[in-house]
Amino acid sequence: MAKRRRIYEGRAKDIYEGPEPGTLVQHFKDDASAFNNTKRGTITGKGVINNRISEFLMSRLQEIGVPNHFIRRLNMREQLVREVEIIPIGVVIRNVVAGSMAKRLGIKEGTQLPRSIAEYYWKNQELGNPLVSEEHITAFGWAMPQDIDDMLSLSLRINDFLTGLFLGVGMRLIDFKLEFGRYYDENGDMRVILADEISPDNCRLWDSTTSEKLDMDRFREDLGEAAEAYQEVARRLGVLPDGGELNGPRMVQ
Ligand code: UDP
Repeated sequence: MAKRRRIYEGRAKDIYEGPEPGTLVQHFKDDASAFNNTKRGTITGKGVINNRISEFLMSRLQEIGVPNHFIRRLNMREQLVREVEIIPIGVVIRNVVAGSMAKRLGIKEGTQLPRSIAEYYWKNQELGNPLVSEEHITAFGWAMPQDIDDMLSLSLRINDFLTGLFLGVGMRLIDFKLEFGRYYDENGDMRVILADEISPDNCRLWDSTTSEKLDMDRFREDLGEAAEAYQEVARRLGVLPDGGELNGPRMVQ
């Protein structure tokens, strides 16, 4: 087989040229990093699980009309996606105070927010992905006002959908980070679509009964059993084949 060209090497994912023009292959790795890459490690099996979880969530989102880059899963660690022009802004939606918001504002982790809050982070690793406002985004030309409107309305819709989906299987969606890209269709028309991945790497998920953390915070905060937490999320979503079958989400009462 001809050697594929690697386009991007990230901490959790590598991106390769896809088999057809306009496609890419996302390869999910077990590597974990936190605090702007100053803490590094691995979570065994994370790549395989995130590939499955992201496949599942992106597919469900497509079914409700949230456009995204996912095409199909190729194998245990890879999925085929549409090539997009990534908008250099991470959109974080928060339902409950945690992480950097708890630190920055001195509010206790776990405080329920009166409404969902959106934040924008400029994707610039050297600067540690700083928090920015809409004014910065448009003044510096990182995105147009229309792109921001599209990202925000899609993010809030995704939040409502995922909040319900996770709650149904016993987890609270505390916060998450999304990335979007500009996709040009065959007529040359541009649409803002969801890209990247949705997995416990970029969502905070707490068990709805015990508040146990079932996400990347297990690694960030050295809580242990990170691999088991990722497996648990996959199992609850019905995407971890225990008997060899994918059963779909199992609702909790
Ligand atoms: N997040 C992410 N990538 C980052 C920073 C944050 O996926 O580089 C996710 C993180 O998992 C959480 C949400 O965005 O679900 C909000 O993260 P926060 O701003 O609290 O920063 P953190 O405490 O993760 O550094």
